[in-house]
Amino acid sequence: MARYIFVTGGVVSSLGKGLTAASIGLLLERRGLRVGMQKLDPYINVDPGTMSPYQHGEVYVTDDGAEADLDLGHYERFTHSPITRNSNFTTGRIYLSVIEKERRGEYLGSTVQVVPHITNEIKAAVLKMATQDVDVVITEVGGTVGDIESLPFLEAIRQFALEQGRDKVMFIHLTLVPYIRAAGELKTKPSQHSVAQLRQIGIQPDVLVCRTEFAMDEDMQSKLSLFCNVPREAVIEERDVETTIYEVPLMLQEHGLDEIIVRRLQLAAGDLHMDDWREMVNTVRSIDEEVSIAVCGKYIQLNDSYKSIYESLAHAGISNKVKVRVVKVDAEAVERDGAAAHLKNVSAVLVPGGFGHRGIQGKIEAVRYARENGLPFFGICLGLQMAVIEFARNVCGLGPANSTEFEAECPVPVIDLMDEQKGVERKGGTMRLGAYPCSLQAGTLVHSLYGRDEISERHRHRYEVNNRYRQLLTAKGLVISGTYREKDLVEIIEYPDHPWFVAVQFHPEFKSRPLTPHPLFRGFVKAAVQHSRARKAKAAASGEAR
Ligand code: GLN
Repeated sequence: MARYIFVTGGVVSSLGKGLTAASIGLLLERRGLRVGMQKLDPYINVDPGTMSPYQHGEVYVTDDGAEADLDLGHYERFTHSPITRNSNFTTGRIYLSVIEKERRGEYLGSTVQVVPHITNEIKAAVLKMATQDVDVVITEVGGTVGDIESLPFLEAIRQFALEQGRDKVMFIHLTLVPYIRAAGELKTKPSQHSVAQLRQIGIQPDVLVCRTEFAMDEDMQSKLSLFCNVPREAVIEERDVETTIYEVPLMLQEHGLDEIIVRRLQLAAGDLHMDDWREMVNTVRSIDEEVSIAVCGKYIQLNDSYKSIYESLAHAGISNKVKVRVVKVDAEAVERDGAAAHLKNVSAVLVPGGFGHRGIQGKIEAVRYARENGLPFFGICLGLQMAVIEFARNVCGLGPANSTEFEAECPVPVIDLMDEQKGVERKGGTMRLGAYPCSLQAGTLVHSLYGRDEISERHRHRYEVNNRYRQLLTAKGLVISGTYREKDLVEIIEYPDHPWFVAVQFHPEFKSRPLTPHPLFRGFVKAAVQHSRARKAKAAASGEAR
């Protein structure tokens, strides 16, 4: 029989609910329990796949091909929870399913309503996570208590606790305890109000996790306990972390959160094992070498747009014992100022995925600069397509080479739609999505990095390298080091005459974890470190010579 934890948020958004939920998942896993992580999102889009990164940040992709909320990335980086399409439900998806049932006549005779039909559908979504392999389902409710959109979800989880039995369900509320400079004090009132709102709906939180800039004193904790009706020991402080988000679980553990959960849900848990995690965090704290890596994209203003890429770079930094300083380079600024202006001081360049025409020329110039200057280069998805176009134009002399995504009538379409994409008109969930196998070519850089012949990676794109140009490209030195055999598609390219030049059609950033960094990111950061050290040595030598 599974147990359930619901994580809600109050006062403001962006408190790090996803991180907190993931940290709770990790702590329970480290006590020998099997967790299932899930996010409920109150917006009406059926999934975030059709949303701009400016609206929603990165679209996370699961093995089974769901386009999902980026919090699932935290879940996968912190835990081993199965992450599938059942790990993320939006209001839109819930309603779509109810409306389709209504059309099929499944509610024949009744009026279809928010309560019970929508709330039943939400409860069924939570139960989907409670498989035989899961001891504790952790469901994060997106949005903030008090939002109109959140109401059906909160009502559903209230009913859920009533039906499952209050002893099997736990409510954890994440709230903000702001510091008011003028008063020189932390304030509890916003938290009191948000808990009052929850209680009005019929939910009494069992634990209050307080996001705060400064340590809370005993008085403050007692006050929150009294006014929010939460036992004193269950008022947990979650202070801003200094070096890395991977400190969060350690902090929650210090305040005894895992033990509170284990006792409250009467879980048969073992002792907590966090040694390797703690060691990883200590490594981060002790690192003193820094390496600068440019990420050249068009959504760089927003931190969340390339979330998993930044995390993967950080993971690879930890294993290489360097701090990766990401230099965010706007592709349009490269078009304006030239690549050297932005890239001459970095030790490597990454061009991430993306859609649409804006910034394309800047990305192509960034690739060219990296190729010509022996700067380690990593292209991801659109980044691979840019690399192929750059190579076709500047090495193979195919001037008008382009992708049909940007130029429908392009005379040299080195990147083109796959046949099965040609008839597709609907936007949602229709790309090449999810995990596909890829066979690696022996003797290549990627083969040695992965250390195996077959890999599986996740995709999210419509366009592919056009096989008609393969021969032309390889004749000039481009190596195709990974392919999807069944459809004979190019998945990885590399240039052997370059210190480190790899581009992939898939998204490796979704499979990196802090304790097991992705091999391609590890190799890329290592190459950046070598480049940076060589440059420093050269600078020192020329200084001495003078
Ligand atoms: N826009 C490109 C395509 O659809 C690349 C997508 C991506 O980078 N995720 O193929």
